[in-house]
Amino acid sequence: MDQYLRTLLNDVKSGHRLSEDECLMLFSVRDRQVWDVARTADEVREERAGPAVTYVRNQNINVTNLCVNACGFCGFSKKPGNEGIYFHDRAEIQKKATLAKERGVSEICTVSGLHPAFTAQSYIDVYYWIHEAAPGVHLHAGNPMEVAYAAKQSGMSTQEVLVAMKGAGLGSMCGTAAEILVDSVRETICHEKIPTAEWVRIIKEAHMLGIPTTATIMYGHCESDVDRVRHLAILREIQDEMHGFTEFVPLSFIHMNTPLYRAGIARAGATGREDLLMVAVARLFLDNFKNIQVSWVKEGIKMAQLGLIAGANDLGGTMFEESISKGAGAVNTDYLDPKEMQRVAEDVGRPLKQRTTLYENI
Ligand code: SF4
Repeated sequence: MDQYLRTLLNDVKSGHRLSEDECLMLFSVRDRQVWDVARTADEVREERAGPAVTYVRNQNINVTNLCVNACGFCGFSKKPGNEGIYFHDRAEIQKKATLAKERGVSEICTVSGLHPAFTAQSYIDVYYWIHEAAPGVHLHAGNPMEVAYAAKQSGMSTQEVLVAMKGAGLGSMCGTAAEILVDSVRETICHEKIPTAEWVRIIKEAHMLGIPTTATIMYGHCESDVDRVRHLAILREIQDEMHGFTEFVPLSFIHMNTPLYRAGIARAGATGREDLLMVAVARLFLDNFKNIQVSWVKEGIKMAQLGLIAGANDLGGTMFEESISKGAGAVNTDYLDPKEMQRVAEDVGRPLKQRTTLYENI
């Protein structure tokens, strides 16, 4: 290890807050220095989050894949006239929610395409229906894009939408639709999505209203390391101010069925080195986050396991039903049995523990 890297990693362990330039340098390491960064991140994880590998028993319910947007990285959404459009009505949503309750989930997660006919009331109805069919189950739903869309469709402010969603039982909001919080990248990959400043504003509004959220990044398409660093810095700044993020979830770009990849604009996803470094560098840079999740849906279980020894402390959810990554071409995304999670955790010498959405022990 070179002396500069050794000193920097030692400093981080002693509480030094990484600058954006230092973060950029860590993203650029290659060869065996990747293990040095990962090892330090693992040590910081041990100190900040303890030994347990946590997971949540959850189920996804995606109401529809019809969407007015056409994000270039999305292999899930459909336009009117496309084949394979689905829309779940109240009866179907409640059937799924009832089944989720019978499966013993503690969380139901719902995000969907931006249906042309949706209003704020549509989201609120869905939340009520889920609670009616699965009382007591935590509802993790929506994201800043859905909130902005609901507000626009109904002539409300985003704050009014959030208040109404909370009133309908929204327990926490997904920090998705973040992708890369750099407008020039957003312009290329999802120009119809809300810009960075609006994403940040809605997240802060949610936190102010007592709605915790997750934080995500979608990387491995056409962003640079500088963009990744800026994104992480924005999340760290929000967390300093609001303390409302429950976890950080790196989402590795699934490229296969996406317009961006087919058009030759995006590369074929992140490499293994990049996946590992995203977890490790996030653990070191996001010094105000306790929980770093590694997504078995996006990375596959073997890469996710390596993330657990590179700074991550959480394996995400059992899922039971997943269609967004599957739409983009990922395989085996439907369900991960906690027994398999246990095998994977114990294989790296750590206990597996079930948690709630908000990281309370079960
Ligand atoms: S990422 Fe979301 S908003 Fe964008 S096209 Fe897909 S479903 Fe629609």
